[in-house]
Amino acid sequence: MGIIQPVIRPPAEGGSFLLQVTTGCSGNKCNFCGAYLGKSFRIKDIKEIFDDIERGSITSKDRKRVFLLDGDALVIKNDVLIPILERLADSFPKLSRVSSYANGYNITKRSDNELKNLFLHKLTLIYMGLESGSQYILDKCGKVSRVEEMEEAVARTSKIGIKSSVIVILGLGGKKYSDIHVRDTIAALNRMQPRYLSFLSLMPVHGTGLYNEIKKGDFEELDSKGFLRESYEIIKGLHLNKTIFRANHASNYLPLEGRFPQDKEKLLDVLDMGLREEIMLKPEFLRIL
Ligand code: SF4
Repeated sequence: MGIIQPVIRPPAEGGSFLLQVTTGCSGNKCNFCGAYLGKSFRIKDIKEIFDDIERGSITSKDRKRVFLLDGDALVIKNDVLIPILERLADSFPKLSRVSSYANGYNITKRSDNELKNLFLHKLTLIYMGLESGSQYILDKCGKVSRVEEMEEAVARTSKIGIKSSVIVILGLGGKKYSDIHVRDTIAALNRMQPRYLSFLSLMPVHGTGLYNEIKKGDFEELDSKGFLRESYEIIKGLHLNKTIFRANHASNYLPLEGRFPQDKEKLLDVLDMGLREEIMLKPEFLRIL
């Protein structure tokens, strides 16, 4: 059957073989998210999945990486997921890594042995949308995963060897809750110590609850300086021991990349230049492209 569009994947998975094991998102309640609007959630039939692996093993046999689509492949229990991972290893002889988006609760409900079994079957990277470290902001957005669940998920997986790539959405608290967003996100990230961290900037999507709130005047968005200020303040507060950081997504006004802890001051210098308008920010229309 192949992939049911639209496909959303992390930028770093551009070269990976994409295997769709679910469609949509099992939570699908976040008011800012338009990723799977109109795409209902289901776990694909195992035969469909195996057929897709077989097709991939002919067209993309030499791929080293596989990304499991869509929003949260880890909703699938190990008794089904492990045979899928085994089939991938058999079909892609050079396979070195399988990765997936993950909600906190689909990690925390697994035992350590179940997580270890995923790791042993090459599922070694999860992408987790923390979005904000503020539970208040997450509740307002309708996100199902809780901050403490996501912290636990990152801690337990990293102990086993599964790396985490954590995503933060700048501007998610709007102007009103920007201070809380910054404060609580710093605290959560410092506890999480993720291997990878990326910032996106909030981009309201037509048809979402947040878009409607903005139209009604109930949510005041940050301007470009507001996004930079949040970046600056969060980075300033981070004490990360070994994290690769990226804010080079199309939504960001100022592309940034660096490593913690060694590049922290350089990142702050660049952001400071942006705030003082000494370097060009991406104009609004380019940010949306
Ligand atoms: S959990 Fe992720 S994919 Fe699902 S609705 Fe929320 S942001 Fe979108």
